[in-house]
Amino acid sequence: MATDTLFGRIIRGEIPSDKVFEDDDVLAFRDIHPAAPTHILVNPKARANATIDAATPEDAARHGKLLLTAAQIARDHGFAQDGYRLVINTHDDGGQTVYHLHVHLLAGRQLTWPPG
Ligand code: AMP
Repeated sequence: MATDTLFGRIIRGEIPSDKVFEDDDVLAFRDIHPAAPTHILVNPKARANATIDAATPEDAARHGKLLLTAAQIARDHGFAQDGYRLVINTHDDGGQTVYHLHVHLLAGRQLTWPPG
């Protein structure tokens, strides 16, 4: 489990965020250093793993909901047609800096491949 991370503190309301979506399970807010015109971080609120690598079969439904919610947020922001990218950075080589599992939603420009 992720313990006391920056995103845990945002979820608990101890640090402000630019919130775009919230329900019982998920909090999504804008990235403070956007890498695209729209850059949203989609977070599980409770019992979040530190990384996707730490997930177990018991997490399947919660993490499935996380991805479905990210896709719904993309639709709600009008990106279903032009497209977008969902990213889960994992550990050092993956570029992860906050060890509270989260999905990046990047949209609003042509994204290149491979990523840097
Ligand atoms: P990652 O590197 O995949 O762990 O993603 C962490 C992301 O959190 C980075 O893209 C940062 O720009 C972003 N970030 C750091 N601090 C904040 C904050 N206070 N509010 C919103 N996003 C943040």
